[in-house]
Amino acid sequence: MLNKIINASRPMIIAGPCSAETEEQTIETCRALAVTGRVNILRAGIWKPRTKPGCFEGAGEEGLKWLAAAKKDTGLPIATEVANAKHVELALKYGVDVLWIGARTTVNPFSVQEIADALSGVNVPVLVKNPLNPEVALWAGAVERLAKVGLTSLGLIHRGFSSFATSIYRNTPMWHLALEMRRLMPEVPLICDPSHISGNRELLFSVSQEAADLNYDGLIIESHCRPDKAWSDAAQQLTPADLDKMLGRVNWRHETVEKAEFLKQIDALRNQIDQYDVELFELLSRRMGVAAKIGEVKRENNVMIFQSKRWETIVERFLGEAEHLSLSREFISIILNAIHMESISRQNSIMNR
Ligand code: PEP
Ligand code: MN
Repeated sequence: MLNKIINASRPMIIAGPCSAETEEQTIETCRALAVTGRVNILRAGIWKPRTKPGCFEGAGEEGLKWLAAAKKDTGLPIATEVANAKHVELALKYGVDVLWIGARTTVNPFSVQEIADALSGVNVPVLVKNPLNPEVALWAGAVERLAKVGLTSLGLIHRGFSSFATSIYRNTPMWHLALEMRRLMPEVPLICDPSHISGNRELLFSVSQEAADLNYDGLIIESHCRPDKAWSDAAQQLTPADLDKMLGRVNWRHETVEKAEFLKQIDALRNQIDQYDVELFELLSRRMGVAAKIGEVKRENNVMIFQSKRWETIVERFLGEAEHLSLSREFISIILNAIHMESISRQNSIMNR
């Protein structure tokens, strides 16, 4: 496992510039990060997959020399992104200790297979970023391709998902998808990339804290000695000193504690939750029973399933109660949509069977 190789306990911190730009910038940043004593692995992008042509696309092989120099200087292991077999060959040639597969590569099984084949017989740790699109199977498939060639030191990086919708995030986290990956492969370390989720410095702390509270194993964060001058991802990078401060504020709480009083309190509260869950599902089941009867009445009268006016009334009514119920409007809307979809599917099976 990764933890064994880098010998780090939770949290594992990977930090460094988005891109290695110059020898001086790479070494200055890595040195300052090492001095904080918080960083286990240094990162820097050498080949940068850019959305549009004409942007800085990475220093290439030359940059690997700078990264190798930073490793020698700090004594810390180094990590970089690989997107094809040539990248793998060069990264290994220059002593890169940990590789990662970027979000734009994880989406493509041909590329992932090419990387896996290039790594067959070389047991280097590989971290797999989630694909750009919110698809757990594709993410899991990439990990499986690497495992199949015999790689045993694998990890997951959750960097959020592309979305057309406007959001406070650059890439919406959709935490439940990362937690689903954790459920599918509980033994694989899960690392959060708050930099690419946030897209700006302001959100880095809250995203990092959320990851800590969801039992992630560590963070991969971008840091640059002169963030505003960075050639890629300037808005989300922090100086090593600011990163040090930010990481110092993140509270990596215990998974649990063996205190009798705590266990007693939590047990009592969980009993209440379990009882409410039973009531919730019994109620939902009764509600769906009524929806099914409505389906029968609609079928007899040849009336269509979806009644937009009625649905709007229901949604408006409960959104208006959000404050009084102490529930967020977003949560109310997710729950109502789920109920509505199930209701429609019940009526559909009755009316069109
Ligand atoms: C990066 O880590 O610099 C990067 C390009 O990330 P992603 O693949 O998550 O976009
Ligand atoms: Mn970046």
